[in-house]
Amino acid sequence: MDCDAVRRRLLEERGAPDPALREHLAACPDCARYGARLAEVRGTLARHRLPVAPDPGFAARVLRRLPVERPADTFAWAAVRLLPAALLLALGLAWAGWQSLPAGDELTLAGTDPAIAYALGPESLP
Ligand SMILES: [Zn+2]
Repeated sequence: MDCDAVRRRLLEERGAPDPALREHLAACPDCARYGARLAEVRGTLARHRLPVAPDPGFAARVLRRLPVERPADTFAWAAVRLLPAALLLALGLAWAGWQSLPAGDELTLAGTDPAIAYALGPESLP
């Protein structure tokens, strides 16, 4: 068994090494040092392990701190409240646009812009 295989097995296995591993560790000081450091790291991690399960009141405390109204609901209500104002603004802009249109007898583009008159030809001139 080579050193890489021994170290992979040391990483994968927990508990006492099997006889083949023990034999390699006894003959190979590098792998023995690797195994000792690995055991030291595992021991340190085990001593500082935090409890995984939260206390029983954790979920209730989180739910109490959550906002009652979700942000999506707030935006939807704001849009509904602003709808009349948006409609009035749209009607006002449409009315202003309608008023700014020239009357039918004022639609002589050739007289207003020399470039348009040139493009339309000499018969378009008044
Ligand atoms: Zn080795």
